[in-house]
Amino acid sequence: MSTFTENFCADLHCHSTVSDGVFAPDVLALRAKDAGVDLWSLTDHDELSGQALAIETARDIGLRYLTGVEISVTWANQTVHIVGLGIDPKNDTLIEGLRQTRAGRADRAKRIGERLAALGMPGAFEGALTFAGNPELISRTHFARFLVQAGYFSQVQAVFDRLLKDDGPAHEPMQWASLESALGWIDAAGGVSVIAHPGRYKYTETQFGAFFDSFKDFGGRAIEVITGSHSVPQFQEYAQVARHYGFQASCGSDFHSPHESRIQLGSLPPLPSDLKPVWKDLV
Ligand code: AMP
Ligand code: MN
Ligand code: MN
Ligand code: MN
Repeated sequence: MSTFTENFCADLHCHSTVSDGVFAPDVLALRAKDAGVDLWSLTDHDELSGQALAIETARDIGLRYLTGVEISVTWANQTVHIVGLGIDPKNDTLIEGLRQTRAGRADRAKRIGERLAALGMPGAFEGALTFAGNPELISRTHFARFLVQAGYFSQVQAVFDRLLKDDGPAHEPMQWASLESALGWIDAAGGVSVIAHPGRYKYTETQFGAFFDSFKDFGGRAIEVITGSHSVPQFQEYAQVARHYGFQASCGSDFHSPHESRIQLGSLPPLPSDLKPVWKDLV
């Protein structure tokens, strides 16, 4: 498409009611446009069913759009997220891979409900379900919203900090997709793989090195540098990682809800100007 100005605003990571966001894909498209986003991507967890409405609405309102998904992956016994951009949402390999990745979420949610009941908070599975826009995609966020509504906590973040974080007492570990599979599905669907919010992972320096090397070996191309999950020092830290590994750079708010997200849709600082934006080859 056309050239990019310095003020070009790309927001290539956010969530709708198809996963754990609070707005439907068409509402998000309108909000992205209003917020001054020039290029937008909806990247629901392990799901493509919001893509058609995102594409259609973006087209109707004159907003540039890149298809997207955020895949749950297990690497070295920890969960990492890989964003796929520019994927064909009708690709069978990707659709089937995501279907397998979603399977098991319902049973896991029942186990989270049992853990919470044992901690004195009954009815959380049923409660979380009422917050899930997509019954195939019950996430920890839906539990956190229920526990806030039920009055146990005043904020979603507090529920994660006390109960649902990866080593929290109500967390149920999952075996998600392998890194190789996730990158293979994204590649099969013609997309580009991006490491989501690397600053959130609790790897040692050695593990981080091995993770970045493996990602690159499996064909991964880009890394999120500017994300709502990073602190300002982490913007610099992961810009340096991008330079070191030759990764392209991405940016996205990881917007879920106006009350829960640190960065609102489109409210992102620009990428460091020496890095190659991931969208340069995609639009
Ligand atoms: P799940 O896929 O069910 O494990 O849920 C993962 C989602 O929970 C993430 O996409 C975030 O939206 C949210 N989440 C995970 N860890 C945290 C955390 N420590 N603080 C806040 N939100 C979190
Ligand atoms: Mn989420
Ligand atoms: Mn994520
Ligand atoms: Mn996300």
